[in-house]
Amino acid sequence: MAISTIDAGLLEALTGMFSGTVLLPDDDGYDDARRVHNGLIDRRPALIARCQGAADIADAIGIARSSGLEVSVRGGGHNVAGRAVADGGVMIDLAPMKGIHVDPAARTVRAQGGVIWSELNREAHAHGLAVTGGAISSTGIAGYTLGGGLGWLMAKHGLGADNLIGVELVTADGETLNVDDESHPDLMWALRGGGGNFGVAASLVYRLHPLSTVTGGLIAHPIDAAPEMLRFYRDAVAGGSDDLTVFAGLVHAPDGSGHKLAAMVVFHTGSPDEAERDLAPFKTWGTPLVVEVGPMPYPVMNTLLDAAYPKGALNYWLSSFTTGLSDELIDAMAERFASVPSPMTVILLEHFHGAVTRIAPTDTAVPHRDEGWNLLLPSEWTDPAHTEANIAWTKDTYAALSEHFSGGRWLNYLGDDQDDAIRSAYGPNYDRLVEVKRRYDPDNVFHLNHNIVP
Ligand SMILES: Cc1cc2nc3c(=O)[nH]c(=O)nc-3n(C[C@H](O)[C@H](O)[C@H](O)COP(=O)(O)OP(=O)(O)OC[C@H]3O[C@@H](n4cnc5c(N)ncnc54)[C@H](O)[C@@H]3O)c2cc1C
Repeated sequence: MAISTIDAGLLEALTGMFSGTVLLPDDDGYDDARRVHNGLIDRRPALIARCQGAADIADAIGIARSSGLEVSVRGGGHNVAGRAVADGGVMIDLAPMKGIHVDPAARTVRAQGGVIWSELNREAHAHGLAVTGGAISSTGIAGYTLGGGLGWLMAKHGLGADNLIGVELVTADGETLNVDDESHPDLMWALRGGGGNFGVAASLVYRLHPLSTVTGGLIAHPIDAAPEMLRFYRDAVAGGSDDLTVFAGLVHAPDGSGHKLAAMVVFHTGSPDEAERDLAPFKTWGTPLVVEVGPMPYPVMNTLLDAAYPKGALNYWLSSFTTGLSDELIDAMAERFASVPSPMTVILLEHFHGAVTRIAPTDTAVPHRDEGWNLLLPSEWTDPAHTEANIAWTKDTYAALSEHFSGGRWLNYLGDDQDDAIRSAYGPNYDRLVEVKRRYDPDNVFHLNHNIVP
């Protein structure tokens, strides 16, 4: 849809009162603002509303609705499906909204919708506090949390969504609601994992936990040891304490050499003695090539994998929860990894246990509460000429491993071609989410997301 479909009078009224910046396709900064993390996404909104607060968001929704244009919402821009940006739509860009206020006495933080995890972690850490955030520090807090939010702290403190206690939400009709368990119990329930379906989160309030120094790092083995290492890993994490989280997978050496490795990324929130005791088996198993494990501030742990996910790389992701980690699945992973076309791509196992699994599947909108693994194929490459081969490998690998999948899908990892997976992501909560959607967004203004159709 062309920009001419926005009435000049409406546009003038918007720019006259807007605190942020309104960008049209010919404006400086438009091309930077429309770019998101995934370099495959190349869309041109009719208007980008770079908001400063809830009032700007409400006005941007208003002009989109009056003009009959689609609304997309950008928090941190990390969604691989690129739903933060739509051709011909109004992109509500929260990137300038960076306010963070920690209340150390209450152990809470309120952060605006454009904040990313490195920023929130830094402010919370200044008070010796933290909350579950993404495994990569450049992910936006808003899309991540509304989509559930798994990460290093989930065994200790639950998902990001489990720690969300309030949302300043701008609804489809431009109203600003202060949502919490008392004021809007159903809506608050839906915001804990129901995605961007119910409105725009101008700011989010989280419960924080005392945490400063953690123990973490990388243990890597030759790729030939992968089948044995993954069997060891499966058995070693069984019954582990809430302090311990280990993700494992088949990866490439971070030095860019393209060498394949079998690796475990370990994380421990206990005292140095407890960490040493619990991590010793992982550090001493087999004949590792690399054991780089030690104490570090939690915000540093959150950046360890950042370099592997540069902005602008081309991404195509598939994932599913598994039915355990059988020898057959391990062997199939190793076999598929032998033909991986990109030295940036990994096959990753994310272990769910502890606090995240002690919440009932219908207590929040996130139903995935079983102990076990989420298997992620985050394919990444840089040369557009290799796009077809990388997408084909990802789809073929997903199909080859699918007999080991449970049917549950992690909402935050769904791509654009996966509308049929949405029910698998919301599981038994889908019908209740539809009811909440009908109440707060009956016209489905917020549909550029993993959509719950009212
Ligand atoms: C490198 C990388 C690492 C990742 N690591 C993790 C991880 O460890 N754990 C995990 O769970 N996920 C992870 N993800 C997935 C990520 O959480 C989702 O892609 C999430 O949508 C990103 O949030 P964002 O705000 O950055 O995204 P955006 O692309 O800005 O937004 C995605 C969608 O979220 C909604 N949204 C965003 N902001 C708002 C808002 N303020 N109000 C209402 N709706 C909003 C909109 O529907 C939007 O389309 C990762 C993704 C990448 C690319």
